[in-house]
Amino acid sequence: MQVSSAISGMKESATLAVSAKAAALKAKGVDVVGFGVGEPDFDTPEPIKRAAIRALEAGQTKYAPTPGDRAAREAIAHKHRTDNGIDCSFEHVTITAGAKHAIYLALQVLIERGAGNEVIVPTPAWVSYRPLVELAGARCIEVPARLEHGLVVEPGAIERAITPRTVGIILNSPSNPCGITLPAASMRAIADVLARHPQVTVISDEIYEKLVYPEVTPGIAHWSIGSDPRLAGRTITVNGMSKAYAMTGWRIGWMCAPGDRGGFAREAIKLQGQMTNSIASFALPAIVEALTNGAAEVERMRAVFARRAQLIGRLQASIPGLVAPPSSGAFYTFPSVASLLGGRTAGGRVLDSAQAFAEALLEEHAVAIVPGEDFGECARAHVRFSFACSEEQIIKGMERVAAFVAGIRQEIPTVTGTG
Ligand code: PMP
Ligand code: GLU
Repeated sequence: MQVSSAISGMKESATLAVSAKAAALKAKGVDVVGFGVGEPDFDTPEPIKRAAIRALEAGQTKYAPTPGDRAAREAIAHKHRTDNGIDCSFEHVTITAGAKHAIYLALQVLIERGAGNEVIVPTPAWVSYRPLVELAGARCIEVPARLEHGLVVEPGAIERAITPRTVGIILNSPSNPCGITLPAASMRAIADVLARHPQVTVISDEIYEKLVYPEVTPGIAHWSIGSDPRLAGRTITVNGMSKAYAMTGWRIGWMCAPGDRGGFAREAIKLQGQMTNSIASFALPAIVEALTNGAAEVERMRAVFARRAQLIGRLQASIPGLVAPPSSGAFYTFPSVASLLGGRTAGGRVLDSAQAFAEALLEEHAVAIVPGEDFGECARAHVRFSFACSEEQIIKGMERVAAFVAGIRQEIPTVTGTG
C-alpha cells in the first residue's frame, strides 16, 4: 500500500516509545522504575469523575457541537480571563482531543504549505513540535538554549532567527523537557522581541501552567504571553486537563485564539469539524467541574510534585556527570550526560549517544528515561527524567542511576553537545 513520504518520514514519538517499552518489561515481571512518560501518577479527582458519570447516566451520549458546549467553553474562557489575563470569550475557544490536537489544528490553520514558511521552536523542546510543524508544511527552526543559562532561551537569539518567512513561534513554559519555568523577565523580553515582528503568530503551550515550584526557585511564577496587549491579537494559548488535573487518558485540551475577531478560532473549528467533531460529549461537564471547583486538588498535587522536584534535584546533584538546572516547573529534569558519553558501562555497552545511555540504563538497571536526541539538536547529550512517580520510586531509581554511572569507564573521546 502507498504511504505518503510525509508520514513515512515522520519520527515515532520518543516519549510514547519509551513508555511502551517500559510497560512491556513490567508486563514480563521486570521491576522497572519508570522515569519515562510525562504522566501524573495520581488518579483524576473524584468530583471530576462524578461529573462525567452523572452526564452519562443522564443520557449525554450524543454528538456535542464541534468546539464543545457553551458551558465548557465559557468555563475555559473565564479561566483564561481570570487566571491568565487573556481578553477572550467562549467563541475563541475550541475543545480538542488533548492539547496535542490543539497544537496540530493551530499549525494546520497557520501554515501555508509550499510557501517556505518557518516556525521557530526554542530548544530543547517537546518531541512532537517538529513533526507537527513539518507535517503542516513549514520548516522548524530551532533556537538552542544553553545549559550555562539554565536552559533559558536568549531573547536575542530568537530575534536573530526571525526572517521574513517566519510565521510562528511555539513557546512552552513551564517546559517539557527542561523542567524549568521561564523567569518573568525572560518571558517579557521575548514578548518585546515578538512585538517588533507583527507577522509572527505565537503558539503558547501552557499545559504545565499549574505545575510551578517557587519552593525550588523562589519567586518563580507563570505568565501568559497572550495577556500582553501587543501580542493578544496574535497569540494562540493552548492548555488542557491532562497534567494539572491528572486526566491524561480523558484526552481533553483546548486552544484559545481571540485574534482576528475569532476568525482564527472559526477556521480551526471548521477543520476540527471535518476531523474529529467534539470530544466525548459526557466529558464536557467534567471540564466545568474541574475549572470551577478543582483548585484545591490541583494545589495538593502541585505541592507533592514540588517535594519530588526538590528530592530528585538533591539526588541528581550527588551523581557525578549529571548536570541540570533545578526543576522549577513541569515534572521533568533534563540533565546533560555529556561527560559520561564515550565511556563503557559495567555491562560492556559503549555509550556513544544519549540513546545508548538510556538503553543501557534500562537494560542493565531497569530504569526507563527518555534520550535527548528528539528534543532538539542541542539536546543530543541530555536525557529526560519524569518525576511523576512516588518518592520511593524516585529514591530507588536514582540509587540505580548512581550505581550505573559509578560503573562507567571512560575509553573513547567524549561526545560534545550542550554542556
Ligand atoms: N504539550 C506538552 C509540552 C506536553 O508535554 C504534552 C504532553 N502530552 C502535551 C502538549 C499534550 O498533552 P495532551 O495531549 O495530553 O493534552
Ligand atoms: N507529553 C508527555 C511526555 O512528554 C506524554 C507523552 C506525549 O504525548 O509525548 O512524556
